Amino acid sequence: MKASSEFQRRNQRRTWTVILFLVALLLVALLSISYFAVMMATEGGASFMAQAQRLKECGHQRMLPLAAAAERYRRGEGKYPERIEDVFPVYLAEEQMLYCPLDTAGPDAKRSSFTYQPPEPDKPNVPLLECPHHDPLVLLVRPQGRMEPGHTLWVLHTKARARSTQ
Ligand SMILES: [Zn+2]
Repeated sequence: MKASSEFQRRNQRRTWTVILFLVALLLVALLSISYFAVMMATEGGASFMAQAQRLKECGHQRMLPLAAAAERYRRGEGKYPERIEDVFPVYLAEEQMLYCPLDTAGPDAKRSSFTYQPPEPDKPNVPLLECPHHDPLVLLVRPQGRMEPGHTLWVLHTKARARSTQ
């Protein structure tokens, strides 16, 4: 009888240890979740999210439509535009597509935010457009597969900005 109650007590203590361990684990999990939530809600997290949003907006709502306008120009004029600004207004309806949402100079600059290189079929790896306004990333538009003047499919890429050596 005495031995049995001793066994029970020990068993009970072990159960409590397991429960305490689980509670501690739960607390750690809750703490890290709330830490992450606070991080995302505060300035650092919010600006990171805003930055990602601008990157997406610039690529999909500005650069890809602009690349499509360059293709329309090629079909219409028989050559790619010399300056990307030349696609407006005949081949591009909205002038704002010439500008990155992060470019504060905007339309007043009268120059596109993007670096433009007229495509040459023998240099398919040269990006058509590059946006330098998303440090530390560079957003660029390259042909998907073969380049077919007037009908090339353009896709977005990102690369890390090369650090200048000083
Ligand atoms: Zn941009």
